[in-house]
Amino acid sequence: MLLIVTIWVRPERQTDVYIRRLIGCTNCWTKKGLLKTLSSTLRVYTARISYSGNDRLNITRKANDPVGMAFAPSWDLLRSFLRLRREGKLTDSAWLQYRAHYTNEMQTSYENHRAIWCRVLDRKTVTFVCFCTNAAQCHRTILAELFRTLGAGVIGERDVESRKSITGLLEVP
Ligand SMILES: [Zn+2]
Repeated sequence: MLLIVTIWVRPERQTDVYIRRLIGCTNCWTKKGLLKTLSSTLRVYTARISYSGNDRLNITRKANDPVGMAFAPSWDLLRSFLRLRREGKLTDSAWLQYRAHYTNEMQTSYENHRAIWCRVLDRKTVTFVCFCTNAAQCHRTILAELFRTLGAGVIGERDVESRKSITGLLEVP
């Protein structure tokens, strides 16, 4: 019996605490001291797909590694987003809706791929890259803000000179 009690009162890991803040859980423990520790560790950048630095993390549906895929929007969400953008209907409210849906998907991602989230949080820097030319309306910016909620420092968009033509974006199956 004593053993069971010990397990239940074990303190939560710091990432659990902050992801619960992210998803609006009010019953979580708050450990403000740890926030400072985390934010002084990971620095988050965003960039266009042509960025090639060592800290690059491709977070598109076309990413070939499971780490990046954990942060990609679902095909369903991506398809509707691209359709709106193609038709010039990506209004502020449509963007906010996309943002809410993507945030929900990231909540699920955290539940299903916790080790991946922790691995990224443990890095010194990361640059989330995507095809979109407008960083303000791209999930890389939303993801950076989610990581800010988790205690990371968000530095912003890298200035990347791109000579590549971006062709992959509209090739949705
Ligand atoms: Zn994008």
